[in-house]
Amino acid sequence: MDEALDLFLGSSCVGCSRPGRMLCARCRTELPSRATIAWPTPTPTGLVTPWATAAYDGAVRELVVGHKDRGQWGHRQALGALLASAVRAAATGLDAEVPVLLVPAPSRRGAGRQRGYEPTAAIVDAAARLPRAERPVAVADLLVSRGPVGDQAGLDAQQRGDNVRGSMHCSSAALSRVRRRWPVGYLLVCDDVVTTGATAREAQRALEAVGLAPVAIAAVAATRRRSGR
Ligand SMILES: [Zn+2]
Repeated sequence: MDEALDLFLGSSCVGCSRPGRMLCARCRTELPSRATIAWPTPTPTGLVTPWATAAYDGAVRELVVGHKDRGQWGHRQALGALLASAVRAAATGLDAEVPVLLVPAPSRRGAGRQRGYEPTAAIVDAAARLPRAERPVAVADLLVSRGPVGDQAGLDAQQRGDNVRGSMHCSSAALSRVRRRWPVGYLLVCDDVVTTGATAREAQRALEAVGLAPVAIAAVAATRRRSGR
């Protein structure tokens, strides 16, 4: 439906600008599918291993921004596939009998959020629904934002850390609901983009504060390392 509307409204591909679908079939097949470890520089102290499938530029950046800020919610399937690759990589070597539980990092306020749509949660849901034989994967909604967090744009790593610290919370109700359903599970913190790692680290902190121990971070994309900044 989203794609039909996009076509009807005369959109163009975010990858190659060809008129038609917002992500054409060719650009979709050219999206990366192999995740790598993406440590931010500097790395927040204690951060568990972050995995990301794409570099945050080009078509992937357009998909993320369009999905989060421009209401292009049809991108969630492509973004979910990218996240699923990171989840698979992060889960490699873990006991395949134990479920992997995806914990969405709560979204900051954005265009989607204001309309009752949680962009990160939507991508995580899409990733969890992708068929896979290897192991059980489910979404564990454990974290909520305590309140409004200022925009991270334009802040350096230190400022981003200060900005988000203490902003996430795992309620005892959410914890017991998830524990009832999945008495055991590997927790993966999931986000759209790893930039400084501040958001992921805060999600990790909030889980650790209630005695949970996430094993890794899984993200759609990571910003490229920038030296000299
Ligand atoms: Zn294209």
